[in-house]
Amino acid sequence: MENAVSAFTAGWAGRIVIAGAGYAGLHVALRLTARLRDNAVAELTLVDRHDYHQVLTELPRVAGGTRAGGTRAAGAVRIPLQDMLAMRVRFVQSEISGFDLPGRRLLTRAGPIGWRRLVLALGSRPNDFAIPGLAQRALSLYSASDAERVWAAVSKALDAAAAATGPERQRRLATVVVGGGGATGVELAGELAEMLPQVASGHGLAPGRPAMLLVEAGPTILAGSSPQLIDNATRILSDLGVQVRTNAMVAAATEEGFRLKGGQLVEGGVFVWAGGVKAPDLVVGSGLPIGHNGRVKVDRHLRVLDHPQVYAAGDLASVTDPRTGHVLPPLAQVALEEGETVARNLDAELEGRPLEAFTFHDKGFVVSVGTRRGVADIAGITSGGRLAHLLKDAIEWEYRQSVTHLRGWDPLAL
Ligand SMILES: Cc1cc2nc3c(=O)[nH]c(=O)nc-3n(C[C@H](O)[C@H](O)[C@H](O)COP(=O)(O)OP(=O)(O)OC[C@H]3O[C@@H](n4cnc5c(N)ncnc54)[C@H](O)[C@@H]3O)c2cc1C
Repeated sequence: MENAVSAFTAGWAGRIVIAGAGYAGLHVALRLTARLRDNAVAELTLVDRHDYHQVLTELPRVAGGTRAGGTRAAGAVRIPLQDMLAMRVRFVQSEISGFDLPGRRLLTRAGPIGWRRLVLALGSRPNDFAIPGLAQRALSLYSASDAERVWAAVSKALDAAAAATGPERQRRLATVVVGGGGATGVELAGELAEMLPQVASGHGLAPGRPAMLLVEAGPTILAGSSPQLIDNATRILSDLGVQVRTNAMVAAATEEGFRLKGGQLVEGGVFVWAGGVKAPDLVVGSGLPIGHNGRVKVDRHLRVLDHPQVYAAGDLASVTDPRTGHVLPPLAQVALEEGETVARNLDAELEGRPLEAFTFHDKGFVVSVGTRRGVADIAGITSGGRLAHLLKDAIEWEYRQSVTHLRGWDPLAL
């Protein structure tokens, strides 16, 4: 591990700097290391604020608590980078503070890092859509620490409910409200709905006292999925006791709760926002071309428009699928495939080969709903129940194997 960057002066000509060790950035580092085995000129540097990689897709399980025999400890979703990176990759743990594009320097708290090629893979941040009070009132679920905070807040709310007098006040305090019915909101609501009755008695509450509410602005949860998948997910959530409210747009978050567009108040003891993501603030005003939600616009080779020495991948990149004309969603699967193309294109540049265009190979959509069931759309076949949950477990297991065995995820496998 390396904390200072001033020593990085050698190998300048071939220096590739990867900003962000998430799904996309780590994958570029792992795949490129394998490809560059025989190339002594190229030097790889990976920069992240953390010295670990976070398996974000498993956060809902952490937020569901571990005390109750729940499913993941926070530590288990932080994989130390030193366990995954070969000697070939220099790691710099530092906060990235900006970009000096003309000077070809990445600006970090540890000092500037010069690059010949830069890969931007800084992910995204929760988007509060400038809803008044939301950032202050609601928790988010974007890191292992966030997930621990959610579970701690739930436990505190259950204690407060147990100490309260009157069933109505108890019920209100023991209600968890999740805003946003996308995959993250559904996974979190399902996980908590299953855990709450199990832990209630430990807090002095009847198992039926806690409640779980999922609030979605659109007409349906899991927007964009097949009607059958949505039906399956809705059925499992209802079975778990989750109250789903669609066409319920949050207009403000106050001390009392979420105020909906129609004026109605949604009360609860804990509020979590899972309503969408946007690019990190860092890219605004950076001189990078920015599209919807602040994501960086790229060409078909994943090079930033007008900046051919800079690649972008993952949630940060705004990549249009030529087959649908739509920008690809912020998903780990997309980030990994983009990382694969970036690694191949950097290798091609070093070898003097032509660049390849990015093509997304959709492997399907799997969402866990609770600790035992899930829904999946794979190759046009929709399934719901235990099998879909096992599939989600298998995908996560395969991902962990791919990073801990230093090979990166193979988009052609699975
Ligand atoms: C709760 C949750 C559940 C999800 N579930 C799924 C799922 O089931 N399936 C799925 O396909 N997708 C899922 N996603 C989405 C998926 O996690 C993202 O699409 C994926 O993480 C994007 O990868 P990335 O490399 O672009 O960004 P990230 O994985 O977020 O990595 C970005 C990296 O950049 C670093 N970084 C950012 N800014 C700075 C800075 N200024 N200085 C230094 N370092 C910085 C971060 O520390 C991080 O390591 C989920 C997301 C969340 C939050």
